Amino acid sequence: MSTALSRQLSVVIPVYNEALNLPVLFARLYPVLDALGRSYEVIFTNDGSADNSFALLTAQHAARPDVTRVINFNANYGQHMAIMAAFERVRGDVIITLDADLQNPPEEIPNLLEQIAAGHDYVGGYRLNRQDSLFRTYASKLINFVREKTTSIQMTDQGCMLRAYSRAVIDAIVRSGAINTFIPALAYSFSSNPGEVGVKHEERHAGVSNYSFYSLIRLNFDLITGFSLAPLQYFTMFAGLCAGGSLLLVLILAYRRIFLGAEAEGVFTLFGIVFFLLSVCMVGIGLIGEYIGRTYQVVRARQRYFVSQILETKE
Ligand code: UDP
Ligand code: MG
Repeated sequence: MSTALSRQLSVVIPVYNEALNLPVLFARLYPVLDALGRSYEVIFTNDGSADNSFALLTAQHAARPDVTRVINFNANYGQHMAIMAAFERVRGDVIITLDADLQNPPEEIPNLLEQIAAGHDYVGGYRLNRQDSLFRTYASKLINFVREKTTSIQMTDQGCMLRAYSRAVIDAIVRSGAINTFIPALAYSFSSNPGEVGVKHEERHAGVSNYSFYSLIRLNFDLITGFSLAPLQYFTMFAGLCAGGSLLLVLILAYRRIFLGAEAEGVFTLFGIVFFLLSVCMVGIGLIGEYIGRTYQVVRARQRYFVSQILETKE
């Protein structure tokens, strides 16, 4: 859906209940972009905010109509869908993603562009001094580790959304039509020369994170199961080992029954083993469910989000 007229740069920002942050974001972002001396556009996706974020975006569009576009969702579809909707409409040769809460300083944009100019088609930022809760920081380290072991995606900091992409990578992402997706990983899989650059990280300017514990778990399931079948394969191997162990146990018990006669000892040990094997089965069923759920969503092919309105200057 991209239009004929192109820009040198598109900046994509998902917005969910960020009314307290938007004025400061506008005040810091636009001067940085104006100073670049390139043609640019900023695309905000309002992801069903319940506060007056959309009113603020509308006012910003009125103030800078030449460089501001606003996509308005009818409901909340999540950060990665909000970014995807903007990707489908970008006009820039280079695309930058950024959070609206000022955790990613807009002043870092020129550093990303430098890496693109150096020949990378995808540049991931990694947070140099992460300003998040200890729990978030360590949970993220753990997921980085799991991702490294289960997928072929190599990156220092998957959670940092301050990233730059060439248009070719964005077009590939859009064509993939991915549903439950994790954009940094998807971009990596389409990139031929990925680079990384350290970026500053600030505390959220105002408000609290929009990610609950539950949505963080969902997001990370998207990352691992969306890019790898390793969990299923590891599970099968583990289940195989358990089956071997159980068979051995059955043989030992049969031997004792035949040669030593009936015995009641060890009943609770047996219960323990049975419960353990049952829980292994349940984890397996849950895991298969995750993959089937995703397959179902793809097969159902329902539209991924609904845009109720777009504010942009027709060209
Ligand atoms: N966001 C969004 N939809 C959501 C949740 C978040 O568009 O359902 C946006 C949010 O406005 C912000 C970015 O995604 O621009 C990152 O969200 P947040 O700061 O809450 O996440 P965290 O920094 O805690 O990972
Ligand atoms: Mg944040």
